Amino acid sequence: MEYNLQTKAEWGPPHSESYYLESNYTVEVPVEYSEKSRQSLGALDPCILLESVWDSMAANLKFPMKDVYNCLLNAGTVEWNNLIRFNPARPHAVFCLWMQCHGRLPTKERMCRFGFIGDAICSMCGRDNENLHHVYFDCHSSLAIWCSILNWIGIIHTPRPWTEEFHWILANTKKKGWKAKLLKLAFTETIYGIWQFRNSKVFGNNAYTEHTTTLSIIDCIMHRGWIDRKLRNHIASFLL
Ligand SMILES: [Zn+2]
Repeated sequence: MEYNLQTKAEWGPPHSESYYLESNYTVEVPVEYSEKSRQSLGALDPCILLESVWDSMAANLKFPMKDVYNCLLNAGTVEWNNLIRFNPARPHAVFCLWMQCHGRLPTKERMCRFGFIGDAICSMCGRDNENLHHVYFDCHSSLAIWCSILNWIGIIHTPRPWTEEFHWILANTKKKGWKAKLLKLAFTETIYGIWQFRNSKVFGNNAYTEHTTTLSIIDCIMHRGWIDRKLRNHIASFLL
C-alpha cells in the first residue's frame, strides 16, 4: 500500500505490509496501522485547501487572516464538533473528551496493543478488559458515577453503551438552551472525572472513590456553571 506525498496518489490495495513514500525516503508501516496512517495523511487536506487560498491571496496581493480562518473552519467537521465548541467545562476536561471522541485515550487494552504493558484488566472493577467502551460506561463504577450525575442535574435517563450514549448526548446538546449547555458541561466533567478515578486506581494512589469522584464532578459543574452567565441562575437553583 503506497501514498506519495508529492503526487497525493490514491492508496493502493492492502498488501502484507505498507510503505509511505516521500522522494527517496521510505518507511515501512505495519499493515494493521495502514488505516491509521492513511487517516493521519488525510490531515493534509486543510493544507491543500490553504494552498488554493494562498494562491488567490498572492494574486490579489492581499493576505486577510479572515480568509485563512474561514478556510480552516470549512476544512471538514466531525459530528461531535458542537460538543467541543463553546463547551463551558474546564479546558483539560474538554481535551479529555476530545481524546475520547478520537478514540485515543490510553486505555490498558490500547497500551497492551502497543506492547507497553501486559495486563488489560480494568482497574476499577477488576473484571473485564479496559477499553474505551468499558470505561464509558460498561464498567459498573463509571456507570454508577454517570447515573449519579444525571440524577443530580435532574435528567431521567438510563445510560446505554458508549456508541448509543454518545449519540444520545449529541442529540441532546445541539440545542442552544441552558439545559443542553448544562448537559454538555456535566457530560464533559464526568468523562474527565471518571478518567481521574481510573488513573487513581491504575497508579495505585486511590485518591478517589466513586463517591468522592461524584462529589468532585458536581463541584466542577457548580463552579463552571456559576461563572457562565447563561447557567448561573439555574445552578443557583440546585443550591436551594
Ligand atoms: Zn471496569
